[in-house]
Amino acid sequence: MSLRLRDTLSGEVRPLEPLEPGHVRIYSCGPTVYGPTHIGNFRSFLFADLLVRYLRYRGLRVTWVMNLTDIDDKIIRGASAAGESIEELANRWIARFLADADALRMTPPDVLPRATRHIDDIVGLISTLESKGHAYRTDDGSIFFRIDSWPAYGRLARLDPDQLRVGERVEADEYGKDDVRDFALWKGSKPGEPSWSTELGEGRPGWHVECSAMSMRHLGPSFDIHTGGVDLVFPHHEDEIAQSEAATGLPFVRTWLHCAHLRMGGEKMAKSTGNIARVAELLEAGVSPRALRYVLLAVHYRQGLDYSETALDAAGAALERLDTLLTTLEGYGETRDDDPTLSELLDRTRSDVEAALDDDLNVSAALAALFDLVRDANRRIAARSISTSDAGRIAAFLRDLDRVLGVLPAEADALEPELAALVEARAAARAARDWARSDQLRDELAARGVAVEDTRDGQRWRRLESVG
Ligand SMILES: [Zn+2]
Repeated sequence: MSLRLRDTLSGEVRPLEPLEPGHVRIYSCGPTVYGPTHIGNFRSFLFADLLVRYLRYRGLRVTWVMNLTDIDDKIIRGASAAGESIEELANRWIARFLADADALRMTPPDVLPRATRHIDDIVGLISTLESKGHAYRTDDGSIFFRIDSWPAYGRLARLDPDQLRVGERVEADEYGKDDVRDFALWKGSKPGEPSWSTELGEGRPGWHVECSAMSMRHLGPSFDIHTGGVDLVFPHHEDEIAQSEAATGLPFVRTWLHCAHLRMGGEKMAKSTGNIARVAELLEAGVSPRALRYVLLAVHYRQGLDYSETALDAAGAALERLDTLLTTLEGYGETRDDDPTLSELLDRTRSDVEAALDDDLNVSAALAALFDLVRDANRRIAARSISTSDAGRIAAFLRDLDRVLGVLPAEADALEPELAALVEARAAARAARDWARSDQLRDELAARGVAVEDTRDGQRWRRLESVG
């Protein structure tokens, strides 16, 4: 495998060598389902999507697991405020998350495990940690991981163990801890809170332990890649490593990938500060889901990304260039010999795109190579130097690369019957040389998001992607 990835833990860029040849196992920390997921979270999910798509494009088998945190303090508070069960609240927000993910064309993960459906796995893991001396109980029935028992703690975040968690708020239910740095594996039950009756006693799981239990359940004790936003490095992923490796004695994850923050208005996007934009609200406001996907995907995942209307407009413009080329290619007709230099152009573009993505998913370099091709293809079309079958080859090439990017319009993008009737009526008006009627229909279509153009190959339509 020629893909090289930068591992957060070692700091090294290393070739991906799946533990099972040909099969890559990936775990991504997913959303906590107590409200709509903001686009900063989706940036992290979409970079994992790009990775999954690229590995599959390269012919590898991928098992992609993304958890849904459906039990935590915020969910309990939200359900209580809404007068519903945590299950009802979680179901509502899971449905919204899946709809948002679908709108942004995120590949559906192979498994979307829910914490509340894995209580047995979580209890088993905590029992193992207890029996190995890595966990202890407090008076209220909670169980904590003892950080002193795990000397490697802090390696992922490169922290001095003695400085850990300084300034971190001490939760009221954590006052019984031996050490302020220790974290809760199990929270003893409290009146009015959901709890499970288990061999550990009555209670509910802490957040960190669910990811260890569910990733190992679905991917095994050691797996290839773990992804998440950079804000999860500490303490969440540090805790995942400690509790997983302390329990199994095996290396937990081969490669850790962390996505940098999304900023808006110069500030980090975070629910805690209210500086957030949500997918559904943007789409309702008329933002194109393809343009949103493009914005969130087009910058290397380890670089900070600024989200703005300007960035969205630039994404819309980039997509229009791709759409226009595709529409032009699909309607192109020229009877002549095939262009003997075309294969070389397509091969070079493919190897440039692959070399860029092999380099730790350098998507901006991959897109640069793609737009070099767009320029070159447009030049050849203008000069009519390619044949009809050449045009078909370029279009097929773009479609093939789009298995990785997922930004081109859907292939069988037929117009709604009503709009198709308008397009046909305009063709009839032009045939009858009724230019006033033709212009009127063009304006009507434009107002409904469809551009029509008259080319020497006839009238063509495409959907407008620019932002309202
Ligand atoms: Zn997690």
